[in-house]
Formats: sequence, structure tokens, C-alpha cells
Amino acid sequence: MKIFVTGGTGYIGSHTVVELQQSGYDVIIADNLVNSSIDVLDGIEKITGIRPEFEEIDLTDRAATRDFFVRHSDIKAVIHFAALKAVGESVHKPLEYYFNNLNSLMNVLDSMREFQVPNLVFSSSCTVYGQADVLPVTEKTPRHEAESPYGNTKVMSEDIIRDLMKVESKMNALALRYFNPIGAHPSAYIGELPNGVPNNLIPYLTQTAIGIREQLSVFGDDYNTPDGSPLRDYIDVVDLAKAHVVAIRRLLEGKNKANYEFFNIGTGKGLSVLEIIHAFENATGVKVNYKIVGRRAGDIEKVWADTTLANTELGWKAATPIEETMKNVWKWQQSLR
Ligand code: NAD
Ligand code: UDP
Repeated sequence: MKIFVTGGTGYIGSHTVVELQQSGYDVIIADNLVNSSIDVLDGIEKITGIRPEFEEIDLTDRAATRDFFVRHSDIKAVIHFAALKAVGESVHKPLEYYFNNLNSLMNVLDSMREFQVPNLVFSSSCTVYGQADVLPVTEKTPRHEAESPYGNTKVMSEDIIRDLMKVESKMNALALRYFNPIGAHPSAYIGELPNGVPNNLIPYLTQTAIGIREQLSVFGDDYNTPDGSPLRDYIDVVDLAKAHVVAIRRLLEGKNKANYEFFNIGTGKGLSVLEIIHAFENATGVKVNYKIVGRRAGDIEKVWADTTLANTELGWKAATPIEETMKNVWKWQQSLR
């Protein structure tokens, strides 16, 4: 059973490819390597013993995307990870983000429809909720107007998929709304490879711990949270990858209850920035040089998931304790020396 993974050399995609292979699926990846390296294939192969098929394709290229589907008529489902994802960059380059994220999605959907590939799993994000009034957020929590062009591409992508599914009754789509993915594979053969100075908390933290960065800035301790720093729902990337396998199986086995469904994928628990730093220090014995600075523009105060729907409907639950995630991500950071 062959699964097409777009963006499969990226951070979440590569971990998902491993879990798919370990669950017996054949995988073919297409990626234009704009934010990943071909060497990731070596890491995947080291873990699973199987080198996934790979094609370097820009999915905004409609003809190239169609040609891919022409040549691979054995694909049974698609997991669409390929997207640009830097929130801050998207504010300065809105057109690039809309162009890349929406065109790649529409090209993939168009070919899926033409070549009758019925099943799609889509990477969405808790960013679609913005700062919710009531926490934790359930799938019934209203989406807020997006705070960045990146976030808006997720809102718009969900809408494109929803509208298409209304008229394509033979197609099925399932969107996973990830909370904050962190960590690395326990083997340390794959993990997150941030380009330049990281924007996200965990790569900044591990780069500080190893001495690449001098100091981690904690963006604010005056929020309305127990220790004043913002709360997020940090989900281990391997747990997240496993959610994709469960989602694919649900679609392939026809167990979905509607032809468009969406699920929150998180732990159900909010952790503060300071709690994350202390969890890292406790798990690794390494002290992190950090300093409380002012708030970062655009940050929300708190968000975490109600994961009841994913737990009951998908039969999926986050399983990795935060200490283990921290150990894995530290091992990954050390492997990059
Ligand atoms: P990533 O950048 O590591 O992976 C995305 C991959 O897509 C990269 O390998 C990149 O080269 C590829 N890509 C981008 N545009 C492409 C195009 N036009 N054609 C072909 N390949 C293209 O990012 P990630 O963290 O693995 O994220 C995967 C998905 O999950 C994205 O859709 C992202 O928006 C979504 N997501 C990520 C997070 C997060 O915090 N990492 C949270 C919520 C949702
Ligand atoms: N954060 C921080 N210092 C950093 C990066 C992030 O204090 O160098 C905080 C940020 O304010 C937020 C949390 O860490 O509260 C998670 O931020 P990240 O950028 O990783 O993800 P986001 O939730 O913004 O998507």
C-alpha cells in the first residue's frame, strides 16, 4: 500500500515516513528541499532499513505535480506536509506564503481528483484557533481570524479542502490540527534542522545549551498564567507522526464518519516556557542560560488542546513524557556537532 508524502524530508514529514514504514506502508516522497536536506533520506534508512522513494518536485508546479501522479498510479493516499511555515517571515512575504502553500495544496488536490486518489491527510495547526476565549480548545471552538499570513494559509487550506469534499463524495480528507510539535527521533538520526537563527523555543533552547547561542530570551513573564510565562501544548514529534498513521488507516479502512474531519493533536496539557526550560534541565542535567525579556509581538497567552475527540475517535493518545522528549532532542542537538 503506497502513501505519497509531500514535504516528507521535512521535520514532521520525516518522522511520519519512519512510522509509516514501520507500520508496513510503502512511501514515496516529493519535496523541493526548500527547507530540508536530501540527507534526511539517509537518516530514515538508518532507522527503518528502507530508503523511501524520493522525487525533487516543486508542488506549486502544476504540470510537474500532475506528471508525478501520472507516473505513480499506485498511490492510495496522500499526506500533505509541504508548506512554508515561518510565521514571522510570512508577515514580510505574504504573497510567497499564499502562493506556495495554497498552490501546492490545490495542485495536489486537483491531481488527486483527476487520478482518483481518494484519501488526504492535511497538516493544519492550532494557529487556526488564535487566542481562544475558553480553554482547552475543542474541535468545536470557533476559529479566529488568523494573526499571520502563514496562519491564514492554514485557515484557507482547511476551507479549500472542506469545500472540495462537499462536492467530491468519493474523496475523504482529514485535517490534523497540530499544537506545538517538539523533539526528535530517539535514534537521533532525524530531527528538526532549523535554518539560521531559530524562531521556535526548543531549537533555540538546545542551541543555547550547547553553546551556539549565548542566551535564551524568555518572551515575557507578565502573562496571566501560573508563572507568568505563556502556556503551550507541546507534542512529541514521534507521537504526532503516529497520529498520521492512525489517520491514514482510518481513511484507508473507510472508518471515517464524514468525508471531511478534523482533529486536535496535542497532549491536552499546557506547559509554560519556564516549565519547559526546567524540564530540559532536569532531563539532561544541563543548565540553560536564559533571561526574561519583553513579550514577543503576536504571541498569544495560552493555548492547549482538548484531545478527547482524537483519543476516542482515532484511538490515538500522546504517550511520550516531556522528560523523554527533552532527552531525545538533546541527543539530536549533540549529534549535529
Ligand atoms: P518543514 O519545513 O520541516 O517541512 C516542510 C517540507 O515541505 C520541507 O521539507 C520543504 O522543503 C517542503 N516544501 C515546502 N514547499 C514546498 C513545495 N512547494 N514543493 C515541495 N516541497 C515543499 O516543516 P514541518 O515542521 O515538518 O511542517 C510540516 C507541516 O506541518 C507544514 O504544513 C506546517 O505548516 C505544518 N505545521 C507545522 C508545525 C510546527 O510547529 N512545526 C505546527 C503546525 C503545523
Ligand atoms: N519563546 C521564548 N523564547 C524563544 C522562542 C519562543 O520565550 O526564543 C516562547 C514564545 O513566546 C511562546 C513559546 O515559547 O510562548 C513557544 O513559541 P514557539 O515560537 O516555539 O511556538 P508558537 O507557539 O509561537 O507557535
